[in-house]
Amino acid sequence: MSSFQEPAGHRTAGATHESPATPEPVALPALPYEENALAPVISARTVQIHYGKHHRTYVDTLNQLIAGTEFAGQPLDTIVKATAGKPDHAAIFNNAAQAWNHAFYWRCLSPSGGGRPEGLLEERIARAFGGFDRFRQALSEAAITQFGSGWAWLVDDSGKLKVVKTDNAGVPFIRGQTPLLAIDVWEHAYYLDYQNRRVDYVNAVIDNLLNWEFAEEALAYA
Ligand code: MN
Repeated sequence: MSSFQEPAGHRTAGATHESPATPEPVALPALPYEENALAPVISARTVQIHYGKHHRTYVDTLNQLIAGTEFAGQPLDTIVKATAGKPDHAAIFNNAAQAWNHAFYWRCLSPSGGGRPEGLLEERIARAFGGFDRFRQALSEAAITQFGSGWAWLVDDSGKLKVVKTDNAGVPFIRGQTPLLAIDVWEHAYYLDYQNRRVDYVNAVIDNLLNWEFAEEALAYA
């Protein structure tokens, strides 16, 4: 299997002042839209804090943790795979996986998202779930019933599409599944806008923001 590769994003400031031999830090990718572009489903305030504080902190903490280690200069997905399931590397894994998950999550959302997939993805969803409505129900249920912090995903698992959920920083590609879409269900993703009503956040994201064009791109990596 292969995992979706991050595009070569801009690197964090500071790298250009260092010698070429210094490993490049992991970058915080630019948001693919303005901070207010997802409103009213996700407010600008939530994006400012979620992207500008939470996501940035995962990236910054990861860079501090890997400086001077074998992981410095490695691609993010390589760091995630190399540290998964290793208690000695739990802090690196948690921050690397959350850095990966968030870079992926922002691209799963679009101000012009929602609706239904077309073409191959529509066929694959019909085959795997028995139709879009049943898929929608499965994704919504996974996101709502994930107990505590975590993620709900649409993945390709050896040629079959599935809905799965992961705890905390969990990421499906470490178990051989290719992520196609993700919904962040940590409270920081919705609490300012929806308080305890995770169900309203999840359904609003599915119906209005899911980026099916991106999911189709991601399917090419399965
Ligand atoms: Mn988050």
